[in-house]
Amino acid sequence: MRIGIIGAGIAGLVTAFGLQRQGYNVTVYERRCEPNVDGAGLTLFGNAFAALDAIGLGERIRRISNNALANLRAGQRIPDGTWLTSMPQATIGQLHSVHRVTLHETLMHSLEPNTVQTGTDAVVAADGSPQITLGTTTETFDLVVVADGLRSHSRQRLGLDTGIQYSGYTAWRGVTSTAVDIGGAAAETWGSGQIFGFVPLPRDRLYWFGTRTQPAGMSFDDEYRAVNESFAGWHAPIPDCIAATAPQDVIRHDVYDLAKPLRTFTHGRTVLIGDAAHAMLPNLGQGAGQGIEDAVTLAILLSQTSPHDLETALRRYASLRQPRTTNLWRQSRLMAKVAQATGPAVVRLRNVGMRLTPPQLIGPLTQQLHRWVPPAP
Ligand SMILES: Cc1cc2nc3c(=O)[nH]c(=O)nc-3n(C[C@H](O)[C@H](O)[C@H](O)COP(=O)(O)OP(=O)(O)OC[C@H]3O[C@@H](n4cnc5c(N)ncnc54)[C@H](O)[C@@H]3O)c2cc1C
Repeated sequence: MRIGIIGAGIAGLVTAFGLQRQGYNVTVYERRCEPNVDGAGLTLFGNAFAALDAIGLGERIRRISNNALANLRAGQRIPDGTWLTSMPQATIGQLHSVHRVTLHETLMHSLEPNTVQTGTDAVVAADGSPQITLGTTTETFDLVVVADGLRSHSRQRLGLDTGIQYSGYTAWRGVTSTAVDIGGAAAETWGSGQIFGFVPLPRDRLYWFGTRTQPAGMSFDDEYRAVNESFAGWHAPIPDCIAATAPQDVIRHDVYDLAKPLRTFTHGRTVLIGDAAHAMLPNLGQGAGQGIEDAVTLAILLSQTSPHDLETALRRYASLRQPRTTNLWRQSRLMAKVAQATGPAVVRLRNVGMRLTPPQLIGPLTQQLHRWVPPAP
């Protein structure tokens, strides 16, 4: 079978790997000239590795990542450093953190040469037929996989779009270039309308993020000063994390998710995966993980599938992926509301609630989200 993929993000590249492994002829079209990504970190939980293991990529990704929270105290704190909750090791011991650039390079190098055609703006066929238009030419495939991200143009052309919605907060992200003493703990710290979190990356670096509730589209003359000022006076090592990061390595994005879950992930012989299908808020750290689950589900369901059985396989893909991703999209929003809570009374109430929630309850709930079993072929 000949398969065309639009978008060389994590979802598109993992799909390409899973399909090439089965001998399919795969081409990935990527709009950017340099197939590279923003230079921040990413956390992946056990479900992402269960998926990567199913297609033989798990060990490769473990080698470039850090089993970040093993042997660290982790949980939620408040800006003066007081702990609200500690997460049981069983819940967070599986978490791995990786530099996005390293992950992207590793995925690219895992593919057959010339799989990814960069600098190519790909346009999907609006009626769901398996065709991609590239400038003046149109290529025909057996299947088209749409992996073009949150602002997917393909989703609109296919008539599946439900719009995107601003979360109400912006996020700075950075990777330190010098070592920082984290004192044996890696927490998320929740203030009023602000969160700061950090995890160790390989080679003594830290990936950190800091959020702030504010209107969409605000700009700062100096992003580095803005993030420093936003978290000034927060407990150690938060100011040290920012100080150990080169100003040019700090990025900021307003955070969006899909306004509503999609009615369906497929149209004819075209299928949506990753953020194009179910962009969710990053508050559960599951966006890329779900894209990886999609990719692996699709690869498994397409194994030994002939072009005649494609529609059945796509229906099964949608029936497996829609309920799980819709649930996580919803839960990520809920978590964002709690974590980004604003105003003294609401924040006090949230913090009391967090302190009173027993870890024995949080542990199994979180573990349930991180448990995933690949489908049978
Ligand atoms: C602040 C923040 C923190 C996050 N942290 C985490 C985390 O810790 N863990 C986690 O699992 N997830 C996290 N996420 C979510 C995660 O980043 C995304 O879910 C994931 O990167 C989406 O991957 P994707 O491949 O679906 O889409 P993308 O990465 O958006 O890739 C889409 C690709 O398609 C290309 N493209 C678009 N249109 C076209 C076209 N017409 N033709 C050709 N190419 C095209 C784009 O250039 C891009 O390369 C976070 C998100 C944010 C905003």
